[in-house]
Amino acid sequence: MAPPFPAVVFDLDGTLTVPGTTRPAPGVIALVEALHARDVPLAVATSASVGPARRVLAGLGVLACFTEVAGRGTDGVYAGKDAVVGEALLGLGITTAGPGTPMLGDSPADLDAAAAHGLVPVGVAWGASRADALRAAGACAVLGHPDELWSLRAS
Ligand SMILES: [Mg+2]
Repeated sequence: MAPPFPAVVFDLDGTLTVPGTTRPAPGVIALVEALHARDVPLAVATSASVGPARRVLAGLGVLACFTEVAGRGTDGVYAGKDAVVGEALLGLGITTAGPGTPMLGDSPADLDAAAAHGLVPVGVAWGASRADALRAAGACAVLGHPDELWSLRAS
């Protein structure tokens, strides 16, 4: 059976975690594990530094599910979400995103960056932004629960 998505990119804070914490958002761990079990390449694109981001993911028990964790470099320079998403895609070996490749995020900047790279901008309603703000920022869908991602699969 073919993977249900070509790849999925996740924001970290407010998307995989409860905003401002290292606790998992309800349902996201099961989603990440299910995608990984179905051979969907996964990446994180975060404005946090890569080292701490990897430690958060390890604490959640899902670091091994991610092919790439892109974020602020060790020099502390943050080039913006757009650049980080580009780096995440390079880490996945993707130069042109296939149709139906979602990026999940809880802020308008996530959605802007997703669209800039040809990803499907998907908002999450459990993060730092309201659903209507995410829709206004161009979200193709706003998930109320992580499992709703499955309804967006291409096949
Ligand atoms: Mg976020």
